[in-house]
Order: sequence, then structure tokens, then C-alpha cells
Amino acid sequence: VGEGGEITYKKIQSSQIMGSIQLGIQHAIGGLASKPERDLLMQDFMTVETTNFPHEGSNHTPAHHYSEFKFKTYAPIAFRYFRDLFGIQPDDFLMSMCSAPLRELSNPGASGSIFYLTNDDEFIIKTVQHKEGEFLQKLLPGYYLNLDQNPRTLLPKFFGLYCYQCNSKNVRLVAMNNILPSAVKLHQKYDLKGSTYKRKANKSEKQKKSPTYKDLDFMEHHTEGIFLEADTYTALIKTMQRDCRVLESFKIMDYSLLVGIHNLDEAQREKSSAREQAASDSDAQPGLHRTRSDAKEDFGTQVKRTQSINRQRLVAHSTAMESIQAESEPIDEEEDVPPGGIPARNARGERLLLFLGIIDILQSYRLRKKLEHTWKSMIHDGDTVSVHRPSFYAQRFLDFMAKTVFKKIPSSLKHSPSKRK
Ligand code: ATP
Ligand code: CA
Ligand code: CA
Repeated sequence: VGEGGEITYKKIQSSQIMGSIQLGIQHAIGGLASKPERDLLMQDFMTVETTNFPHEGSNHTPAHHYSEFKFKTYAPIAFRYFRDLFGIQPDDFLMSMCSAPLRELSNPGASGSIFYLTNDDEFIIKTVQHKEGEFLQKLLPGYYLNLDQNPRTLLPKFFGLYCYQCNSKNVRLVAMNNILPSAVKLHQKYDLKGSTYKRKANKSEKQKKSPTYKDLDFMEHHTEGIFLEADTYTALIKTMQRDCRVLESFKIMDYSLLVGIHNLDEAQREKSSAREQAASDSDAQPGLHRTRSDAKEDFGTQVKRTQSINRQRLVAHSTAMESIQAESEPIDEEEDVPPGGIPARNARGERLLLFLGIIDILQSYRLRKKLEHTWKSMIHDGDTVSVHRPSFYAQRFLDFMAKTVFKKIPSSLKHSPSKRK
């Protein structure tokens, strides 16, 4: 946060970054239209296009009121191919990215990265470090070999890599899929790694309106874990195994499973108490003429949300349910719940919808900083043999997800005794 309370990144106002990158991306996508579709070549992963954006505009850039800047687009043809792989039309991508102001996420990680969300909720733009950007560039050919073979994955899907340059500062940005729908209330949110070392949300995180909790918090909140139908459980764990194998092959670690939980029963209770509240308000204060239609207003906003929630997602195979290739089709079509959440239950039997995906994968073991914290956590985790670290990380991650976080619904609970013959 800057001096005047304005959010800044590398001393550049966030609003300026947002506006400028929208100009940059608009130009980059527009420029692609003149390049015919063709098969990908290896060199497409290495190209970088640079454009100047002077105040007064130029032959191919618009005039603007931001500081003058340069905008670099990495591997434009390769990323077009990837977007195509996920069914994203150029016009739609342009609309998502550029037609409305971006929103800044209020819940970033500890690294100081800034996150922007597109207005239609489809994409997240994250600032990354130089090393991470470089790593993604190197990763691209191999990463997309995997995505091409298997687009159903919980791994992040990258749709663009850019660099905004202003006053000799570089702001590198990746565009990726958004995992958590913002139109649905997430009653709990977790960032899980399978480690227990310092994996607890701190005080300031807990004070946020929608905190992101960690592994130790999860074990405290869900001592028995979260229950899934057997098929769903198997599909989810299989997908994660496959994904972790890919990450391990690239020596990637420190990634997390981001899990957003919408509790359907809780939402029901909230709704009826809101209704009661509205009713008692109108009883208690007749002078205010709080009428039925006023109460309806309150729900009107929810109805509006529903319509946008239920529309088709832009990015193919990207909801949690699609990502894990589960056979079973979602539970009862709840009216005001977005499709694509994975149905589950907590230990109290309440119905949940899970929105999840693997995040923060641009940390390669080779690039990892040797911080004291890292060293301590290594000792604490009992993993002192450093060559094995990526595989150790993957194994511990999978173990935690398969045994502690997710559980199969015991068949004795699934079929109520009365139904059994
Ligand atoms: P650190 O390296 O300190 O962990 P970071 O800056 O690399 O932090 P991430 O771990 O990538 O940040 O993400 C931080 C938070 O941002 C997540 O806990 C989550 O709330 C949100 N977030 C990140 N990626 C996504 C995504 N693809 N969809 C939705 N939310 C996301
Ligand atoms: Ca992280
Ligand atoms: Ca990180």
C-alpha cells in the first residue's frame, strides 16, 4: 500500500497498472488477428513482442493518460493455441480482459503479488517475479504437452504472459483461470499444502471478511475431513495424482490446493434468517413503510446474480467438476448455485459444494530461495535429502489430500438402514 493509501506495486499505482495492461493486452490480441492460425512451432514458445505506448498514441496504439510504457507479450502464438485448446475465442478473451475495469483481489498471498480479477469472473491476472516468469517461459512446451494430452486437470491454465515496463520497472503478469466464483458465498476457504509447519492463518488474515485458512486450521475445523461419494473421491484423487506427477517431473514444489467451500445448508439458513429479519423489520417499523416489495428488492440482487452464475463458463473443462472427470452428475440443480462445484458433505452431514484447483506452481526447486524459514521447515518436515524434495513434496501433498482432507462417504451412511433389504 502506498503513502496515500493507494495500492501500489513496485511504486506504481495499481490503477495505472490495470489500465495500462488492458491497453497492452487489447493491442496484443488485436495484432494476432492478422496472423493466420497454424500449427505450433518450437520457436513460438520463445518469441517476445514489444510495443511502445506513447502518450499521444502512434500508428497502432491509442493515446492515453497513463505514464508512457512498454508492453511485452510472450509467446503470443503459443498462448493463442492454448486459449484455443480451452475453447476461448479471441473476441471473448478480449471482452473478458479489456471491456470492463479489472477488480483487485483483497486476499493476496504473502509474496506481495497483486491479483486482478476480470469483471466476468473468468480470469485472474497475477504479478509474478522475474524468476517465475522465466520459469513459465521454459515450462511452456512441456506443460502444454501435458495439457494437450489431458485438458481435464486441476493444474492452473495459463492464457498469457506479459511484461509491463514503466520508469525502468518491470511488472510481469500471468493470466490464468479463476478457481473461486465470486458470485457464490464461500463459507470457508483453504490454501492446503500437506505441511503442518506454520500452516495456520495469522491474526490479520483471520480478521478479513473472507479469510484463507491453512492446513492446521482445516484439521481443526474438519477433524473428520470432507466426505465425497466414492466415484467422486476416486476421480478427484486420480486427477491430483496425475497432476502431481507432472509437477514433480518439472521439479516444482510449494504449490497449494485452493479449496472454496459453499455450504448449501448454511446458505439456506442465512436466507431464511434474512427473510425473517426483513419481515420483523417491517412489523416493527410500520412508519418506515417497509413493504413486501422492499424485501423483494433485497432478493432481487440475488436473482440477478443467479442469471450470471448459471451461464456457460467461457473456459472449457475448467469447473472443478469438469476438471476431475467425475461421472456422477451434480446434485439437485439448486437454483442459486453455480454449476460445476463438486458435491460433498461435512461430518455433520451438511451439503457442500467445493470449488478447487492447484495454484502457485511457478516455484521450481532449483529456483527456491534458501531462506532460513525454508531450512527450518525442511528439518521440521523430516526431509533433509534435498534431491528428493519435489517427490517428497508431491507425496506428502497427495497423502494429506487423500487421507486427511477428503474421505469417501462410508457406504453404511450412504444407504439409510430403512432402504436396505
Ligand atoms: P505465496 O508465494 O506467499 O504463497 P503468492 O503471491 O504466490 O503467495 P498464491 O499462493 O498464488 O500467491 O495465491 C494467494 C491467494 O490468491 C490464494 O490463497 C487465493 O486466495 C488467491 N488465488 C490465487 N490463485 C487463484 C486462482 N487461480 N483463482 C482464485 N483465487 C486464486
Ligand atoms: Ca502460495
Ligand atoms: Ca508464490
